[in-house]
Amino acid sequence: MQATEWLSIVFTRIYARLIDRGGVTNEEFYQAHGEKKRVFWVNGKNWPMAGQYTLFGTILLNETKLDNVSENIVDYVFLHEIGHSKAPTLLGVTSVLLRVPLLLFAVIGIPVLIGQWLIFLFSIPGLNSLMIKSLAYFILVLILVGPLVIIWRLDEGHAEFWVISKVGEDIYRNFHEEIKENRNKGYIMKIFHKVFYPKPNQIIWFKHIMK
Ligand SMILES: [Zn+2]
Repeated sequence: MQATEWLSIVFTRIYARLIDRGGVTNEEFYQAHGEKKRVFWVNGKNWPMAGQYTLFGTILLNETKLDNVSENIVDYVFLHEIGHSKAPTLLGVTSVLLRVPLLLFAVIGIPVLIGQWLIFLFSIPGLNSLMIKSLAYFILVLILVGPLVIIWRLDEGHAEFWVISKVGEDIYRNFHEEIKENRNKGYIMKIFHKVFYPKPNQIIWFKHIMK
């Protein structure tokens, strides 16, 4: 084993401990649709994701989310994460370097802006200044969130596009129909998904255009 591979495994195990104290529960080589790669299972009870392609180039899968689903869905999550590993260098690097700081900016910045806007509202401004300032706050929120949404959607879209190119449109549709049936998400995660993930239909549409 190469030193870099060994290091990425060590870092993945440490990272898994941040997700759940139990850390990695199982390591295996997973195989689906001609792809084979080592995966790290973690029992992420409070982790909202089914899987993740980590900064260390490894794949984490969440037992809690994937225990009671069909093999088909596990295959899909596995392939989606592999898709992240196939991102063009520029997209991969931008996503890794900018996603976390942009997310922090948004998480901290948006409540601050909303707070300031509320304080401004309580000052009972005139209609004109209310409209102009509200618009200004709205634009600031867009500036905060826009780049994050664009990078995120490009990254997720690329991973999905890789999956559809790999398995074909029919299997891709089946994947998502099954996921839809199994979906049991809270309100926040639903909004999160709507904003940050392209719809399967958009991926299929894009695949048609690229033919
Ligand atoms: Zn993804």
